[in-house]
Amino acid sequence: MSEWTPDITKLARFDDAEWLKVESAFCGRLMAYASRRVRDRQAREDVVQETFLGAVRGIEAFDPAYTFEQYLFGICRNRTIDHLRRNKLVTLGDNAQSDEDAVTVEDLASVDETPSRIARQRDLSETGVRMLADLLRAWVEETWTQGEFARLMVVEALFSGAWRNRDTWERFDLRDETSVAGIKFRALKRLRELAQERDTQKRVLPWLTAAVDGREGLDIDVQRVWREGRVSCPARHWIARRIAGTLPEGPAAFLAFHLDEMKCDWCRANLDDLSGLESASELESVITRVGASTLQLLRSRTQKGGAD
Ligand SMILES: [Zn+2]
Repeated sequence: MSEWTPDITKLARFDDAEWLKVESAFCGRLMAYASRRVRDRQAREDVVQETFLGAVRGIEAFDPAYTFEQYLFGICRNRTIDHLRRNKLVTLGDNAQSDEDAVTVEDLASVDETPSRIARQRDLSETGVRMLADLLRAWVEETWTQGEFARLMVVEALFSGAWRNRDTWERFDLRDETSVAGIKFRALKRLRELAQERDTQKRVLPWLTAAVDGREGLDIDVQRVWREGRVSCPARHWIARRIAGTLPEGPAAFLAFHLDEMKCDWCRANLDDLSGLESASELESVITRVGASTLQLLRSRTQKGGAD
């Protein structure tokens, strides 16, 4: 069961029909994401509308290293941050609940790093970030296929959650902290093997080697690469099966952990969307309104030959 993905070539040609399909496919999950951050309904709709307009404007520079959903979610997060920042002065003077909102903006902004920004900060080139995301994804897939969900959760807790060994040991009922260190070590070793096969440019391999040899910690921002790259995010059909209650034990435990403990924003947005929190008729009217504004932009693009 694979999910529909749009034809990027058609989108880059500003094809009306393809863009409208994008809107019906993704509107629900974007609204669900915005709902967790933006209280006002009209403002949420604006965020989603601006997201689609931003997607149209940026489509010619679409980077095929990422999925279309990642592209769209990235824009949606930025529009959400913009909205929260614009409203910060108002909400700050409001009440205690609003202070929480202010924190949320900063939390949100702190994970809002494009791969190129991570690269600049950590001296890891953009191709290095991609390589690392690629290696992590390969490791996750392999571990998932082997049915080693406990191992997957432990490594996600360490790498993505930045949990301490002690907390991880307690949460997963492991023998002791050494078991946690052992799982981490074996994951690093396997990542290094994968890097030896794939990282021919040696963008990440030196770090992995140093970490495996115990010379230093893994001095790259694995947490951000893991989260930004969504390396462990299950495909949407797994989330649908969770709602239906038809997941096998291992994936069920992992999804619960990923959604409830790692609190992955995007998987939660998919969960809310698939759970139908938004009524179908409400969503339909949002799609219609948002679609109208997108069509207007598309028309101006095609008439002026894509110029701004
Ligand atoms: Zn996720």
